[in-house]
Amino acid sequence: MYPYLGGGPPQIILPVNPEGLPKLPYGMTRKVLVIGGGVSGLSAALELAERGFEVTIKEKQTSVGGRYSTHKLNALGEEFQLSTGFHGNNCWAIFFKLGEKVPQGEPLCLPDPPPTKDQRSKVKLGFHHGSVVCVNWKGSHNDSAICIHWKVSELFSILCPLDGFSQWISLLCLINGPVLRIIQHSVSIGWVPTVVQHAMFNLNSLTPVFTITNNFREYARIWVLRNTMCCWPDNHFAFRDYEWENVYSSGPWPLNLLAMIIRSPNLSLWTAIKTWRVSLGFILYNHGSLYETYDNLTYDEWADMYGVVPEFGDIWLKAGISASFDEVSSFSAAEFLLFSHFYFLSVAEAEHRDYSSVDSGTSLINPWVEKLKGLGVKFELGTAVTALGFDGSGKVTHDISDPSKLYDHVILAVDLGSAKQILSDSLEQLRERNSAVERALARIKNDLKYLDKAPPFKILKVWFDKQLERDRNHPILQTPQHSPINLIVQLHQVEQQYRDWVAKTGGSVMEFHLYCWSHGEVEDDKVWEIISPTVREIYPEIFDSNFKILASYVKSGDSCASFKNGTAQHRPRAIFPSKCGIPNLGLAGDWLRTDYPSALTERSVSTAIESVNQVLLAEGIQQVPLTVTTSFGPGFI
Ligand SMILES: Cc1cc2nc3c(=O)[nH]c(=O)nc-3n(C[C@H](O)[C@H](O)[C@H](O)COP(=O)(O)OP(=O)(O)OC[C@H]3O[C@@H](n4cnc5c(N)ncnc54)[C@H](O)[C@@H]3O)c2cc1C
Repeated sequence: MYPYLGGGPPQIILPVNPEGLPKLPYGMTRKVLVIGGGVSGLSAALELAERGFEVTIKEKQTSVGGRYSTHKLNALGEEFQLSTGFHGNNCWAIFFKLGEKVPQGEPLCLPDPPPTKDQRSKVKLGFHHGSVVCVNWKGSHNDSAICIHWKVSELFSILCPLDGFSQWISLLCLINGPVLRIIQHSVSIGWVPTVVQHAMFNLNSLTPVFTITNNFREYARIWVLRNTMCCWPDNHFAFRDYEWENVYSSGPWPLNLLAMIIRSPNLSLWTAIKTWRVSLGFILYNHGSLYETYDNLTYDEWADMYGVVPEFGDIWLKAGISASFDEVSSFSAAEFLLFSHFYFLSVAEAEHRDYSSVDSGTSLINPWVEKLKGLGVKFELGTAVTALGFDGSGKVTHDISDPSKLYDHVILAVDLGSAKQILSDSLEQLRERNSAVERALARIKNDLKYLDKAPPFKILKVWFDKQLERDRNHPILQTPQHSPINLIVQLHQVEQQYRDWVAKTGGSVMEFHLYCWSHGEVEDDKVWEIISPTVREIYPEIFDSNFKILASYVKSGDSCASFKNGTAQHRPRAIFPSKCGIPNLGLAGDWLRTDYPSALTERSVSTAIESVNQVLLAEGIQQVPLTVTTSFGPGFI
């Protein structure tokens, strides 16, 4: 029983074969087919190619990236690189681990975004609120170094008058941090006996802005982040029934939560007291029993059962679910608790969002592809894989008519809809009946029939001739009560290309995220018409001041997965096909189930590594260690 005082430290799932070779021996060839070129497919390809495997990526689109892909748009006399849609990620630990391996080219050194009203006072010295000041010194142990990251916001708590509760908390962190870290460092170099190490392990979580590192790896990670990513700690929310909120987290749990309640114009400490039963679900989070305990309930049923105070549910809890692309009413209570744990309670820096100042192609996908090409990865673009074929010797092909294209291993890294179709067609077209492969495919197909896609989404970008007033110009505004609008991004606050255009024209570029789209197939130019009444509720000035639309662009998709209650028992894990009898087939994607908390991009990347590890184990190559979020909430475990 270890008492956790905040989100616990991450877990590392170590290789089960530490004695394995670092890579394939010279002269040995192993061919792997990766189907799907999204982040899950690219992650799998990178790990395998680095270990000497001959990797081919087959992607149905003419470019890779999946939901992170970009394309060109010529409009208003300019060429824009459009990302599918704004991604604001936190918990990118694994992602940035990959980022370390991807060449970054010239540092982009983009200026920080202009401050919002709330941040103006904090950036007056020219720092971004989330900038990191790093002080390193080497310990006497050769391998380790202590790296202390002072968030500029923390320094401000010293330099500026202490003007708020969260600043006091930050100050507390600052005072405690170095002392704890120095003791911890003593532990790491063997000055402190083991019994104290357990205590330190728990204290570690008290001061999350301070990190102890080996060989500056953590620092390198932040350097990647600093070159291509910005961090925006505030989250603005617009509600129909409540005052607008600016939610941000600062300081250790549970003081960060308390401070958020105190700052809220809608919630009071009394709300917190009334929700103590709900809090237990978060505090005593245990991933091992999560699905068994909560998956049969919908979020709504869970909220009724635990007496969630309506405003607390509307403002904090439902807002998180609506970002999942799925229907709130049928969303599994287990997945909801997982989201809350993963995106909030396990990280004291929760509510901070890292986002790219350039399109996702430039910041991520293009350098990644270059890296893969350098490792010899082949790309076959523009044709969808329809089915898999299995030959008698256990090899797999994507082209049943051409058995010369045989692979030793296949990783299916496509979205749920495509995975269902490919596996079902593979079963139908199977040549060898009554085989172990047939039974395995039938079993997988049977489970997948319980899983559905989330409703379609649309991302609408609009170029206007005018701008909102500065204090209404929130870079990212979440709108959980204004369905189908879920999020509005002022792209010119976020990405450099739009900032340049706005500087020349005085206009603005807004992106509307429309999840759970229920208006069916409509012409792109009808989308604005449909959402206009809702936009008017949020930003009436767009209509009152006659903003003119200069250009617009709609991206539609239906590749996100639904997490309806009661489906977890049918949700396969990455290595499920091998458990069923196809040892050289793995799955990867954000629709799978993991034995540790993960969601969206993080789940895609983690499951890809799980599938890679299955290949590595089979071939006697040492597996990739997997860093994952703690499986336990900040209560007693
Ligand atoms: C607008 C938007 C905002 C988002 N924001 C966030 C965020 O803030 N944080 C976060 O963590 N996540 C976010 N996500 C989710 C994130 O993008 C996904 O979780 C992640 O990109 C999924 O990657 P993937 O590789 O598993 O799937 P995908 O990106 O869907 O890639 C699958 C690939 O397989 C290809 N494919 C499909 N069928 C076939 C076939 N038959 N043959 C060959 N290829 C095929 C597809 O074309 C695609 O390229 C967001 C998603 C969207 C759309």
